[in-house]
Amino acid sequence: MSYVFNPAPTVSVPVVGKTERFPVHRVYCVGRNYEEHAKEMGFTGREPPFFFLKPADAIVVVNPGETGSIPYPSLTKNFHHEIELVVAIGTGGKNIKAADAHKHIYGYAVGLDMTRRDLQGEMKKQGRPWCIGKAFDHSAPIGPITPTAQAGDVVNAELYVQVNGADRQRSNVSKLIWNIGETIEHLSAAWELQPGDLIYTGTPEGVAAVVAGDVMVGAVAGLGELRVKVN
Ligand code: MN
Repeated sequence: MSYVFNPAPTVSVPVVGKTERFPVHRVYCVGRNYEEHAKEMGFTGREPPFFFLKPADAIVVVNPGETGSIPYPSLTKNFHHEIELVVAIGTGGKNIKAADAHKHIYGYAVGLDMTRRDLQGEMKKQGRPWCIGKAFDHSAPIGPITPTAQAGDVVNAELYVQVNGADRQRSNVSKLIWNIGETIEHLSAAWELQPGDLIYTGTPEGVAAVVAGDVMVGAVAGLGELRVKVN
């Protein structure tokens, strides 16, 4: 096989305790999946889950113990952090029932769904796609993937993000409106999941802006810390 130019390299994320890496297929994200965050965005109630995607090459891998770096993106004056539990799919499938979802999960990671909030808001107002607000370059920092057997009680894990040492978001995965199994059930009814898919499961309340020079430290209990500096 030859190409007219070199294909882009496969995006991959390190796996805790392994030398082999997790090759990324797609990056799915769940919108408004914590009640207090839905409220701060102007919505109430338990609406059916909805999804958007980021390109796989929006992933920014941050190795344990390191501080990753992302550029302050173009076109925005309101660049927001969203700390999220990320589910890594190891076995694909469609129409997966919530009760069977655990069989498809390879592991979990800490992620940041970085958002150009002003552009997202403008697109919402105009009824246009969110891509420019959500799916831009370097918008998906992620830490290493912890395999399920070593991940502990993820469904009851505290998650938080601090900016320059001060709390911004602090909640618990147990407060997800649509839990991990239900999210996979809904998602796999719309798309056939593939090994390598990542699911950013949604963010709790407290989303706010960062500026150049800020250091974000996010975590999900049992999955380690994710440190990212905005440049
Ligand atoms: Mn999000």
